[in-house]
Amino acid sequence: MGKPLSEDWRLTDQEDYLKRRTLLHTHYIQPSPNWDHDHCVFCWGKIDEKTHSSYVVEDDARFWICEECYEDFKEMFEWTVK
Ligand SMILES: [Zn+2]
Repeated sequence: MGKPLSEDWRLTDQEDYLKRRTLLHTHYIQPSPNWDHDHCVFCWGKIDEKTHSSYVVEDDARFWICEECYEDFKEMFEWTVK
């Protein structure tokens, strides 16, 4: 048995700003020509235009979540996905 998810190394203070948010399931879009990637807010994996798909907070595009972390944390964070 692994550790409970609540003790996962990827969790820091995301509940403060990501709990019950609405996410868009989307392909990464560069915010500007010289800003070509972001990092998953949980695992810090790189998210860029080569990433197949990922999730971003609907009204705050600073926060990106990779597919794997989405699957692991979707129940804990009670997200709505569009
Ligand atoms: Zn991740």
